[in-house]
Amino acid sequence: MKEYLDPQKDVSLYLHIPFCTTKCDYCAFYSLPLSKRKDASCITDQFYEVLEKELTSVVEELKRPFRTIFIGGGNPGLLGPSRIKNLLDIAYAYGKSDETTMEINPETLDESFASLLSHVSRISIGIQSFSDAHLRTLGRNADRDANIRAMRLLEAFKTESGFKINGDLITNIPRQSIEEALEDVETLSSFNIDHLSLYSLTFEEGSRLLEREKPLDEDEEADNLCILWDRLASLGFEQYEVSAFARGGNYCAHNLVYWNLGQYIGLGPSAESSLGYSSLVSMRQNEDVESFISSPSFDVLPLSKTEAVEEYLLTTLRTKWGVNKKEFSLRFEEDFDELFSSKIRKLNANYYSDSEDVFTLKRDGILVMNQIILAMLMDL
Ligand code: SF4
Repeated sequence: MKEYLDPQKDVSLYLHIPFCTTKCDYCAFYSLPLSKRKDASCITDQFYEVLEKELTSVVEELKRPFRTIFIGGGNPGLLGPSRIKNLLDIAYAYGKSDETTMEINPETLDESFASLLSHVSRISIGIQSFSDAHLRTLGRNADRDANIRAMRLLEAFKTESGFKINGDLITNIPRQSIEEALEDVETLSSFNIDHLSLYSLTFEEGSRLLEREKPLDEDEEADNLCILWDRLASLGFEQYEVSAFARGGNYCAHNLVYWNLGQYIGLGPSAESSLGYSSLVSMRQNEDVESFISSPSFDVLPLSKTEAVEEYLLTTLRTKWGVNKKEFSLRFEEDFDELFSSKIRKLNANYYSDSEDVFTLKRDGILVMNQIILAMLMDL
């Protein structure tokens, strides 16, 4: 792993805990539902042992602190607080990270997680909606009461330790009116949260949702997003990425690593890593838990310069800071304006803002971001 790493640049860590109680109907991520497995505790024990070994060997190879750590899933809460704490003790062997975030589902959060308060700096909680009907459409385990109970508990933890709270919502759910979506935004923001992620429901191939529901019309979806973004702004949330809103400047540092194409190591089934600076290498761990347990390994994929530029545009243009042209030429030894200005001139002027130093997308451009990036990458 060290051979791909740029030693001058920070490195972050992502741990993928792939277990869920049941599968949500919209989910196309790799995860293993445990509710019907008789071997649930055996498989989580085996997984934990392998992950602990993998993490120890990476920490000993790097011998330096991780800049940020994110424990995601699945539902990492299913591993239990003492195991999460132990993994973090291993990760902190050469110093604590600037930010450590753990995801958890509302129905799993209980008082026992108070023991983690000194180990994490953010908790990210998947609320998705406060409406029982819409939670049922999504196939979530938690109902409205569980979501409210979890938010109150997190607020109590926050009073003790001062960590940050990220809350996630999904919108554009079939049969959800814009008034109901606005109510979800207002209810979540009425809690003492620092960060809100608002995702438009996606209909992924292979998800149960696609078998029984239809996505909204694209224009209606975009109109709804604009109304919700405006409401979030009026509630004091700054949109710093397409789906991410921070209150009081509390950006999620780990996500900024992804969006700035920083270095990170991902451990766990289907976790991805991205290493290097001017030349990038993407690594992916085994696809599923069983193969991860029996023989953990990485597929290594060096990116061509065009692939790396594509990745850079796809990530940086999601943010309010956009492409920093100096950073672009340092990284790729290419001039951004020479490569793209003729293509940019053909875009609708309402889509972007282009100065000597930065190229960013405006709201209208963000709504058609993929088409813009495709147009920019054409014949590169
Ligand atoms: S909890 Fe998350 S990872 Fe698990 S099934 Fe639901 S959406 Fe997918």
